[in-house]
Amino acid sequence: MEQLLQQIELYKQEIAAAEATNADMVEAFRIKYLGTKGLVKSVMGEMKNVPNDQKKAFGQILNDFKLFAENKFEILKQSIDDSQQSTANSIDLSLPGSPVSVGTRHPLSIVRNQIVSIFKRLGFAVSEGPEIEDDWHNFGAMNLPEDHPARDMQDTFYISQNPAWLLRTHTSSVQARVMEHQKPPIRVICPGRVYRNETISARAHCFFHQVEGLYIDENVSFADLKQTLYFFVQEMFGKEVKVRFRPSYFPFTEPSAEMDISCLICDSKGCNVCKHTGWVEILGSGMVHPKVLENFGIDSNKYTGFAFGMGVERICQLKYQVNDLRLYSQNDVRFLKQFTGAI
Ligand SMILES: [Zn+2]
Repeated sequence: MEQLLQQIELYKQEIAAAEATNADMVEAFRIKYLGTKGLVKSVMGEMKNVPNDQKKAFGQILNDFKLFAENKFEILKQSIDDSQQSTANSIDLSLPGSPVSVGTRHPLSIVRNQIVSIFKRLGFAVSEGPEIEDDWHNFGAMNLPEDHPARDMQDTFYISQNPAWLLRTHTSSVQARVMEHQKPPIRVICPGRVYRNETISARAHCFFHQVEGLYIDENVSFADLKQTLYFFVQEMFGKEVKVRFRPSYFPFTEPSAEMDISCLICDSKGCNVCKHTGWVEILGSGMVHPKVLENFGIDSNKYTGFAFGMGVERICQLKYQVNDLRLYSQNDVRFLKQFTGAI
């Protein structure tokens, strides 16, 4: 009796220590302990030799022993199943990765960055300034005194708390601030959002984006202006694009010119965008008016300069053939996601 109990105890220690790393080992365990000729059965067979008065207690011990072996068998089986499962689910490093969905830059940002990068290569620095301006920086300093008729072209929004404040109509106000604080040579571009009191339509909006440029130094000539802008157009639109200058009028430049490029949409054959002329206006430019230089204490006998200004939306329209200005600010992802992958 005593011997049998010791034997059971030894078997239990063996069972507790048993391990299996594959299905064959689990099966071997089952046969050894739980099979028809297994140890559990053989220990059970000893029951007949147990005295009657101890049969009940011994039966309990045998039963516990059997459960102990069965539990261990289940545990071993489960561990093998789990490891097979995890092998099946393990990461296959040879598979291609799932694409990470990324956003896209706004088309206006893409084009503004391209413009900035082209002028940076020519040595232009970038300046920014406030969108809420005072009358002087937006109009007065730019040779647009009160009652000047050219102000009508640039009607804007005024701040009700202080009518001297307004939303800037061009980024020339930033040029004004640069000339206030910097002595020539000055070579800056001023990208930014500007405002006009316009009815919103496919062709006009109450806000849009500009990049203006200013170059002041000794001996800056109209030839420098033309060469700079010609370089810009070739970098932006390609070498085969043609350029023409038309005389124009701006209060802050003299002489002034508007610059057209050959229409990229119809290849100069005539379309709605170029109004069937084959040419599209992309910017205004000119030699800085001596009065503007004098406004900032810059000697106009010693220094000359040129300035230009373009609408980012217009450049974007020509580059991506976007024909409705409103699309830029509607936040429609069907429109915006077309620019995924653009730089
Ligand atoms: Zn055209």
